[in-house]
Amino acid sequence: MIKTDILIIGAGPTGLFTVFEAGLLKLKCHLIDALPQTGGQCSEIYPKKPIYDIPAFPEILAGDLVLKLMEQIKPFEAGYTLGERAETLDKQEDGSYIVTTNKGTKHQAPIVVIAGGLGSFEPRKPPIENIKDFEDKGVAYMVKDPEVYRDKKVVIAGGGDSALDWAIYLNNIAEEVTLVHRRNEFRGALDSVEKASELAKLGRIKLFTKAEVVKLYGGDKLDAVVLKHNDADKGETYLEVDNFIPLFGLSPKLGPIADWGLEIEKNAIKVNNAKDYQTNLPGVFAIGDVNTYEGKLKLILSGFHEAAVMCQYAYQIINPGKRYVMKYTTVGGVEGFDGTKKEAKKEVVQRII
Ligand SMILES: Cc1cc2nc3c(=O)[nH]c(=O)nc-3n(C[C@H](O)[C@H](O)[C@H](O)COP(=O)(O)OP(=O)(O)OC[C@H]3O[C@@H](n4cnc5c(N)ncnc54)[C@H](O)[C@@H]3O)c2cc1C
Repeated sequence: MIKTDILIIGAGPTGLFTVFEAGLLKLKCHLIDALPQTGGQCSEIYPKKPIYDIPAFPEILAGDLVLKLMEQIKPFEAGYTLGERAETLDKQEDGSYIVTTNKGTKHQAPIVVIAGGLGSFEPRKPPIENIKDFEDKGVAYMVKDPEVYRDKKVVIAGGGDSALDWAIYLNNIAEEVTLVHRRNEFRGALDSVEKASELAKLGRIKLFTKAEVVKLYGGDKLDAVVLKHNDADKGETYLEVDNFIPLFGLSPKLGPIADWGLEIEKNAIKVNNAKDYQTNLPGVFAIGDVNTYEGKLKLILSGFHEAAVMCQYAYQIINPGKRYVMKYTTVGGVEGFDGTKKEAKKEVVQRII
């Protein structure tokens, strides 16, 4: 049994920053995530995309934001159960909770924080019979590292922003990029559609509209795909390829969390945003993309703010009656960053003098 003060379900940016805010209050955290790595959507869906609305970072790659968060929380030595999905939540007589994962790992804590984002998200897969046989052998539903596609022949399918953005991006890296969409019109941003059409005219992207990938061929790895054209007279096209990336979006599912007796609205958890982001279950909080309330913005900075507020209330539940005065980090320093605490104190003293 893993025991901790605050058990965080979801190691996305919100869950990670919770470790920092809890650490300032000397509360220990343990994180569970279904994915094998930390960072949530930032690591899994768009690690190489720049984010422009993180305060004080005019531009930062999503993957770099996760690295910075990991650096920031290092002094607080959180525990991690990665690659396991939280399945059940059981209240104990003493008011604490036990959370058990799909692999049977048990965790106990007086406070549970659900920072599960979109939930255990699953990519929408095209209905191609043998697609599973080629997963991680040429077929991927997300681009994690564009370098994987250097000098490769890549087919991307989809009509939204992801398909357009990656087709544009990979045309400088891959040997050949083919973009396949089942309609003539794309759903993505107008400038991306224009850019992709321009590259197609220049012959740098092969563009097939009103077509779908219907068959995959290969042995140990993918060797070829077959496109079926929706115009009957065009028949099928056989393409030799190394990679096939269907980008049809993610279907967000709260997964097992939906069965924990929480108040759910539009696939998100209702919380008391006027106070502490607690759910209808005492001691269970929900922060970040996973929660809902009037005026909610599903942004990274919302999750950071909610984490800071929620930790103050978690402290009161764990330490009933104990007075806590919030200190700025410039005054209190951060235990574990060498010298920070001393320096911060010296600075304050100097200012007072
Ligand atoms: C393409 C794209 C671009 C974006 N650009 C921006 C931007 O520019 N600025 C911005 O502010 N936001 C942006 N966002 C949104 C931003 O990524 C989210 O707001 C943010 O990731 C939410 O963080 P989170 O920690 O709440 O959830 P998530 O990042 O979704 O992390 C939740 C984690 O919980 C885990 N999890 C869920 N259920 C379970 C379970 N039962 N057991 C174990 N683990 C579980 C998941 O595996 C996941 O790792 C963008 C999103 C996308 C997809």
